[in-house]
Amino acid sequence: MKNFTIVANWKMNLLPLEACELVQNINMQYGDLPHNIRVLIAPPSLYLQSLAEKNRGTIKFVAQNCHEKEEGAFTGEISAQMIAASFCEYVILGHSERRLYFKENNKLVNAKARVALDAGLTPIICIGESMAEREKGKTNSVLKSQLKACLDSLHSESDIIIAYEPVWAIGTGFTPTPGQILDTHIFIKEELMKIQKRDLPVIYGGSLNDKNAKAILSCINVDGGLIGGASLSFETFSSIIDTSREISGN
Ligand code: PEP
Repeated sequence: MKNFTIVANWKMNLLPLEACELVQNINMQYGDLPHNIRVLIAPPSLYLQSLAEKNRGTIKFVAQNCHEKEEGAFTGEISAQMIAASFCEYVILGHSERRLYFKENNKLVNAKARVALDAGLTPIICIGESMAEREKGKTNSVLKSQLKACLDSLHSESDIIIAYEPVWAIGTGFTPTPGQILDTHIFIKEELMKIQKRDLPVIYGGSLNDKNAKAILSCINVDGGLIGGASLSFETFSSIIDTSREISGN
């Protein structure tokens, strides 16, 4: 039976009441998920603790980022330990928006992954090529170097999730074809075998929605989805969860 990890990345969206209502609806509908379906929600950090504390159960919570140091004078930042102490178990690292707007690079993502793992969090490490890189035929070489640097010296028994998110697909309504996603996930899994000597969950992100979820999640080596825009509405997000249940046969 296939395992799916379905992650909602709310980014900087939803006011507190909207966030509470959406989580409550998801929790009511999916409070009793089969063990092979993980539903994770990444709200803005301001709401993380209260949402996670009030909604402890099958749905788990995710921070959208953390700082690379354990503690200190870093105004405006939150640490991995703070996240772990706030009933959260996961953290998204290296999202393309962090790489683009906050100039994060693979080395920093690696440092963040280390503190996250030390704090007991599971990092969801995002990798993906830009359109220019794809057009120059550099997709695989970009992914290879991102994986190598982001995973550098991370223990091969750590819980880690890889999110393949082509930068040009995020928030654009464009996606690679299921065949392209399949090929890229094969490549990523081969690289993971070389770097970590094991298989890791590789989820797809980039304009995944209720319409294309079936085609994308049916790809044999797609282990779930990281969903931005379509995770902001209960109807579309729940439809994606339902699709994953249907594909996995429960
Ligand atoms: C994302 O933010 O990781 C993402 C995939 O966004 P969207 O689904 O809106 O493309």
